[in-house]
Amino acid sequence: MKTIRFSQIVSLFLTLLFVLPLPGVIVSAQETNAATQEKPQGESPEEKKLREREESLKKKEDDRKDKEAKARVKEAKKYQTLREFAEDQYASDPDFRDQVDDAYLDLQSSHALDAYRINTSHPKELLATENEGEVLKIRRALYDNPRVQEYVNRLGQQIVPDDSDRLYSFKVTVNPIPAAYTLSTGTVLVSTGMISLLDNEAQLAYVLAHELGHVYKNHWRIKVMMPLAEAEYNKKQEKKRAMWAGLFGAVGAGIGAATNGGSGAAYGTLIGLGAGYAIGSYYARKISSDWEVAQENEADDFAIKATLGKSFDIQEVPRLYETMAKVARADSRTQLGFLGARSRIHERSEYAQKLIAGALQPQYQEALKASKIKGTSPEFSLIMSELKRDNGIEAFYFDMFQMAKLNLQQAVSLRSDDPLAVYYYGRVMKQVGRTAEDLDTAQQSLLAAIKLDTRHAIPEVQLHRALMLMDSKDRPNQTEAINALKAYIVAYERRRAETISHDGMLPPNVDVLYDYMRLLGDKTWRAPEIADLLKTSVAPAAVAPVETPAEKLTPVKTTGRKP
Ligand SMILES: [Zn+2]
Repeated sequence: MKTIRFSQIVSLFLTLLFVLPLPGVIVSAQETNAATQEKPQGESPEEKKLREREESLKKKEDDRKDKEAKARVKEAKKYQTLREFAEDQYASDPDFRDQVDDAYLDLQSSHALDAYRINTSHPKELLATENEGEVLKIRRALYDNPRVQEYVNRLGQQIVPDDSDRLYSFKVTVNPIPAAYTLSTGTVLVSTGMISLLDNEAQLAYVLAHELGHVYKNHWRIKVMMPLAEAEYNKKQEKKRAMWAGLFGAVGAGIGAATNGGSGAAYGTLIGLGAGYAIGSYYARKISSDWEVAQENEADDFAIKATLGKSFDIQEVPRLYETMAKVARADSRTQLGFLGARSRIHERSEYAQKLIAGALQPQYQEALKASKIKGTSPEFSLIMSELKRDNGIEAFYFDMFQMAKLNLQQAVSLRSDDPLAVYYYGRVMKQVGRTAEDLDTAQQSLLAAIKLDTRHAIPEVQLHRALMLMDSKDRPNQTEAINALKAYIVAYERRRAETISHDGMLPPNVDVLYDYMRLLGDKTWRAPEIADLLKTSVAPAAVAPVETPAEKLTPVKTTGRKP
């Protein structure tokens, strides 16, 4: 028998090690280093210290970015590997295919049920039964402002890639928490809280596109398939590892036998097994990945490309993340939805910036030259005035004061003739105000709301005004307080009487419709009493033609950022 020389085996072992690039080797080979900084002339010791500190901070920051970018690539690669494995398995293994199909069908049925519940739930009924168990349903109830729904859906449909043969629907839910999610039915749901934070249409387009990306990229099906594939994959990898260990065990036994005879062979086998296992562990690793992160990144990537594809201003994307980071810092509840982990906001923003400055730059410049880039539209400002008001009111009742104050302040500045927005702005200022100016703003707002409330739809405004007047020791103020209390009681009584007499007769969102009329110039028309309606028999009951479309909403500049 030909004896293998020890040196030959060692060299075979080493060759194997070097032929197979190990992870550490890859990383260190890629590490190129920051350009050496030139030392400026005539620098004082203090300046030197400052410069060095800045350099060190910059280096740390660069290292962090580098690490994050690498982790992102790694995560995407793992995701891709398993996805490909899963698709192969799906194509070749009928049992696996049945398992995936069954699980996905279950998910689709449950999402269809969710959609049905959302579409048929009445938000007001749900709010009335608010308790722990009902919270989710309240969050999922749709925002009953048809114009906003219409606008958001139109915008969403614009971004759907031309090659998609699926059908989608974009809807707004009432929830002050900035949330956005999808159902496998093709439904994209975005909360009022999410939209209320946005500065312009380009940002909304990006949020819708991100969610659309989850459906377009089939993430729900993949989510169902992945855990099934992962188990299968890891079983196979375990076999591969055993194979590597076996191979090196044999080589090791050869080393041992060549040097020390029988006992050496056993020792060599042990070493060989260890080495084989180590290499095998690298080449036949078990896979476990955070699908959420990989899918989030994929959806971000899709969104930025899809929005630019439809000429939306992608420069707004990093600005959106900046706003969200600020909001998340002020109230951590706001990061429960769309954003997920606050720690990832910066990374996602930086990724967007890198794409904008790099791969997408030529396309962006071209669109810019052709004056095609869209930032915002007049419709956006219009829907925002209503949406910010309603979300501000919701946030107020969730004690999310920061958001309530900001939303209502912006709603009032977008549209100063809206009694409800002005009233609630006064309410929130009265609640959280501390300074004399705050309380003055509250009082002024309540006064303004009384003047604007031409349909006497907000009796409480009189009550709150009375409460403020009562604080004053002046006699005239106290008389005014009495009048305000009387006005409150009468207005309350009238509203109750109307509610009872119209019980179930009017559209559930009649207040929204009154608001549309106000915008169109009619500030006083009210639904006729039932008795009057019946007297005048059919249609023309009290529906007088509108004379002039009075004041229009002043268009407000919303390109750029919040003040
Ligand atoms: Zn997402």
